[in-house]
Amino acid sequence: MPSTNLRNLFLQHVAQTSDNPLNIQIDRAEGVYLYSGDKVYIDCISGISVSNLGHSRPEIIDAVNEQMRKHTHLMVYGELVQSPQVLLAKELTALLPDQLNSVYFVNSGSEAIEGAMKLAKRYTDRFRFTAQKLAYHGSTQGALSLMSDPFFSDAFTPLLPGITFMDQNSIEQIEASITHETAAVFIEPIMGEKGYLPCEIKYLKAVRKRCDEVGALLIFDEIQSGYGRTGSLFAFEQFDVIPDVLVLAKGFGGGLPLGAFVSSKEILSVMTHQPVLGHITTFGGHPVSCAASLAALNLLLETKIHLDVPRKSELFKSKLKHPAIKSISGSGFMLAIEFEDAVLCRKIIDACVLEGLLVDWFLFSESKMRIAPPLIMEDEVIARVCGIILDKIQESVQPF
Ligand code: PMP
Repeated sequence: MPSTNLRNLFLQHVAQTSDNPLNIQIDRAEGVYLYSGDKVYIDCISGISVSNLGHSRPEIIDAVNEQMRKHTHLMVYGELVQSPQVLLAKELTALLPDQLNSVYFVNSGSEAIEGAMKLAKRYTDRFRFTAQKLAYHGSTQGALSLMSDPFFSDAFTPLLPGITFMDQNSIEQIEASITHETAAVFIEPIMGEKGYLPCEIKYLKAVRKRCDEVGALLIFDEIQSGYGRTGSLFAFEQFDVIPDVLVLAKGFGGGLPLGAFVSSKEILSVMTHQPVLGHITTFGGHPVSCAASLAALNLLLETKIHLDVPRKSELFKSKLKHPAIKSISGSGFMLAIEFEDAVLCRKIIDACVLEGLLVDWFLFSESKMRIAPPLIMEDEVIARVCGIILDKIQESVQPF
């Protein structure tokens, strides 16, 4: 079918979330490239931190095909022993601190956050949550309740009661924000939609200490920052602070839908009684998604591609020098380029996309441009990407 027809049908029959979608038809994707007819796009966003190992990795495709031939869905989560799930949980927990030894598999980031919220309510017998201002934890009603910015949530009230918001890195606000009534504190170690802003180590340590004092669970949302994106397997490894619950999705699935909340067997055991079936999911931990995830994890561990991310991140920063760039924040391949204002930022993003460079914006930081490429992006491509960005900045600030 001609591309124009398909794009019209997309607008007509696929429910839209925005009145101005990219509407680019992608025929196939490989490595760091997306192919659209005879146009090639360089992927600088990895489907928002999903395709960490690049697109169409043969190892992941083989694992998916092999699992497809054995079986796909068999039964709701938690009844039958399915080897991709078990092996993934075993391998993942072996890489985590001892107390993070049990994995509850779900389908997506939002569902994992919902599960973590339910877990904290059950474990602490409390219902109040504390979250960071301008964090993003998902779009379902519980996750949306953790969003401080009313722009996206106000239309859907009433949401959950008892949510307190605190400023990232404000040690002064911790005591009042986390109390003996708090069930859990949700933290993005590298805040995503606020514009890739890392938490300070001393702040995370203070939050950990306060959670211990009052008996609240500390929950790290590593949905974007996990799976090598910041140079370590998980960002929290660089902060020397261990959460009670680790929430995963996006890159975790190796390109397929998968989420999880990981905690201790002791904490997670509350989901199995009073009532039984504390969280029910039909497709959670789908065997094909788990097979893809396991292949992706093995690939990451074998290639150690994430260990080179900090160097490549510096390469981006060293090449992206222009008077119109106010700052570059972030960690590893979570980079945010800040411009003077939202209008200029949007102009540069649009110009990059038109040129074949897929970059993006942030929900809560309109003057920043998102750079989150697959971790496999090579130096020569990074140089090309930076060249395009600098050209587009120059054209945008001096249009004539
Ligand atoms: N937490 C964070 C930090 C995210 O970036 C996202 C997705 N952008 C989510 C949660 C929700 O994940 P999902 O879209 O898979 O529901």
